[in-house]
Amino acid sequence: MSQFPFAKRDYEFQKYVDCHNWIGGQWVPSTSGKTIDVVNPRHGQVMGTVSWSGSEDVAKAVEAARAALPGWKATPWKERVQVLFRVKQIMEENLDELSWLLSHENGKTIAQACGSVLKGIECVEFGTSLPNMAGGDQLDVSRGINCKVTHEPEGICAGIVPFNFPTMVPLWMLPQALVSGNVFVLKPSEQVPYGSMRLAEIFKEAGLPDGVLNIVNGGKESVEALCDHPEIRALAFVGSTRVAKLVYERSAKTGKKVLALGGAKNHLVVVPDAEPELTASTVVASAYGCAGQRCMAAAVMIAVGDVDHIVEKMVEKANTMELGQDMGSVINPESASRIEGYINDAEKRGAKILVDGRGAKVNGHEGSWVGPTIIDNVTPDMPAGYEEIFGPVLSIIRVKTLDEAIKVENGNPYGNAAAIFTTNGGVARYATDRFQAGMCGVNIGVPVPREPFAFGGWNHSKFGAGDVTGNDGFRFWTRPRKVTQRWEMATDATWMS
Ligand code: NAD
Repeated sequence: MSQFPFAKRDYEFQKYVDCHNWIGGQWVPSTSGKTIDVVNPRHGQVMGTVSWSGSEDVAKAVEAARAALPGWKATPWKERVQVLFRVKQIMEENLDELSWLLSHENGKTIAQACGSVLKGIECVEFGTSLPNMAGGDQLDVSRGINCKVTHEPEGICAGIVPFNFPTMVPLWMLPQALVSGNVFVLKPSEQVPYGSMRLAEIFKEAGLPDGVLNIVNGGKESVEALCDHPEIRALAFVGSTRVAKLVYERSAKTGKKVLALGGAKNHLVVVPDAEPELTASTVVASAYGCAGQRCMAAAVMIAVGDVDHIVEKMVEKANTMELGQDMGSVINPESASRIEGYINDAEKRGAKILVDGRGAKVNGHEGSWVGPTIIDNVTPDMPAGYEEIFGPVLSIIRVKTLDEAIKVENGNPYGNAAAIFTTNGGVARYATDRFQAGMCGVNIGVPVPREPFAFGGWNHSKFGAGDVTGNDGFRFWTRPRKVTQRWEMATDATWMS
């Protein structure tokens, strides 16, 4: 399918191509010619380079997008959606290749890489249903007078995405934005540019006209140029809270519509009547899936009363995980030492390390590793109790009552996800009614709402209105036009005349 198929089908190191910007359907180097290395995190070896862009490159991408807008916008919905049907088919046919590439650039295990590509495909699948939503409402509001709503594209849009889901997060945005008639500039994470590179090729193969999707690679400079560009009308960001706030404020100054999803510190509350096996395995899977580098990962387990029988099972499960097979690497050495710093600090403050992932190694794979870690007796005022660690570390905070647990959860400034583990419906309802989190779970460790429900947190986990996927994504990338019309040329006056 592509000029650049990724050949490797195992974890051994493979060098790959250099990644440039995708502008007007061509791969072009950045104006400065500067590149940075892309490092395979499992091996700590350079697999290729990626262009480093600035405002001139963003200007070129916007120019290509502007040229493509009239034709794409004028293409009927039912034709635009055909591209997504073909994207879905091409992705399914190449699932293996896309998953291995993702595993190599990001460090995920192949199972978890595959899961995230499949989730990306699900987002494309949802996009194929959007023409059904796009049929607007209409009503005769007075004699001979009709109001209708149409959903118009915003025009030139942009998306900025993080390192942890190189294929999936761009697909949180592209299906809704493109099928609605927008043109797009995507800024992938400089640490994992290949997922987006392959998506550009797939969309082209699926028939997307040149210039409708453009990619500008790089970091801070290219992001700032996207925020500042006056022609970009809508911009979505997914990444850390620190950068989400910067992007939100900077973009809003130009009057664009902006939605910025930030970091997380997710609390899973476990009460004594929780089903032990389901709870232990679900909490462990949530904490260590994707090496804890998920904005929906369990970061804190709040143990209400005596749940030691569940903690013991969790320790057992964490200890039997094989690093490199059941759990992948973290993204880079700085991340590994930051994560270990939190464990060291918690230990110094008196917390107890039940499972210790520090200094973990995988033979023959000299990359960035931290093993599964459980820290007991963490308190909410320890950094491990309130800051986002973004690694395979689960902090246990002990409390006596459900109300205390809810107070701890509510006291954290983030608000992405929270879950309750119980066999009592009343307890579940009590907790989910009170959590300060946009995505709540009952006996679910990663409560990601699947389409048509939309994804997004509260408080410091999201800046801007609406959510990013599902129906809300469609609303974000479109604007409603209201048309009030009269075609009966009657002369009797109404309040509207
Ligand atoms: P990040 O904020 O460092 O980077 C995200 C994007 O911003 C990247 O494209 C990066 O190039 C750019 N960027 C980095 N520093 C910048 C700066 N100073 N100015 C402008 N742009 C800058 O995030 P990351 O490390 O790639 O990803 C991990 C973070 O993303 C975690 O905090 C995680 O919780 C969050 N995340 C949130 C969600 C969500 O839905 N809320 C989903 C995935 C990841």
